[in-house]
Amino acid sequence: MTPEKKRVVVVTGGSRGIGRAICLALSGPGTLIYFNYFSPNDPGGKRVHAKKTETLIEEAGGSAKSSRVNVASEAEVKAFFENIVAETGRIDVLINNAGITKDKLLMRMNELDWDAVMAVNLKGAFHCIRFAARAMVNQRFGRIINIASIVGVIGNAGQANYVASKAGIIGLTKTAAREFAQRGITVNAVAPGFIETDMTASLPQKVRESMVAQIPLGRTGKPEDVAHMVAFLASDEAAYITGQVIHVSGGMYI
Ligand code: NAP
Repeated sequence: MTPEKKRVVVVTGGSRGIGRAICLALSGPGTLIYFNYFSPNDPGGKRVHAKKTETLIEEAGGSAKSSRVNVASEAEVKAFFENIVAETGRIDVLINNAGITKDKLLMRMNELDWDAVMAVNLKGAFHCIRFAARAMVNQRFGRIINIASIVGVIGNAGQANYVASKAGIIGLTKTAAREFAQRGITVNAVAPGFIETDMTASLPQKVRESMVAQIPLGRTGKPEDVAHMVAFLASDEAAYITGQVIHVSGGMYI
């Protein structure tokens, strides 16, 4: 199949965790997945995590290309999307998944903590939507799915920056849904609860136990739990859904 006949999917932060599971849930013979990552810790530039995602996508019958792109940088995001459009001529699906935390109580949180999280989690999604939407508007088709969080709706002590960024993602989703609806583009958010990834791995056991106690389904979530919902929202069957926030939290938010 030639690249222009393939469904072109862009996933931010596809190297690990939920982003990797989303890449796998969307991959298949008819799909070309572009994903990015931004780990200064990737040892010696070996791209260990990104390469693993690429291999898994290919094992699932899909095609993948990964790039080191900081979503907080407008210039890098612009170049990333322009290259994709130059290679394929289109962008069908954008998943804004890249995210970070810098948790502290408000009284201890400084401006750097605030700016870093807002730049990746919220401004990053803004950049990606703007550059992906250029292709989607021309095609008069597109699916945008933003990964929010349950805490963007209910708040969480120690995460003022993160919570504000995720509440912002929800507002951005609803506005983009209204602006792009006439162009055949749907925009939705998925709000995960407590999902087992590197992001939550370092939480103290006591905090984990108190979280699980708040989950009616009695367990933490897996990245695949989120990825299945994203895959549905990206599908043809979800054509009449836009501007929504779908919680995937085992009932933690009802
Ligand atoms: P994760 O395992 O820490 O993975 C984060 C991903 O984002 C990695 O691929 C990382 O790339 C990428 N990334 C970080 N900063 C970036 C930047 N500046 N530019 C581009 N990519 C960047 O996190 P996760 O748990 O899978 O979280 C994925 C999303 O789900 C996030 O938006 C998070 O807020 C949201 N979420 C997670 C949970 C949860 O319980 N885990 C709950 C609610 C919402 P590298 O590999 O290069 O670092």
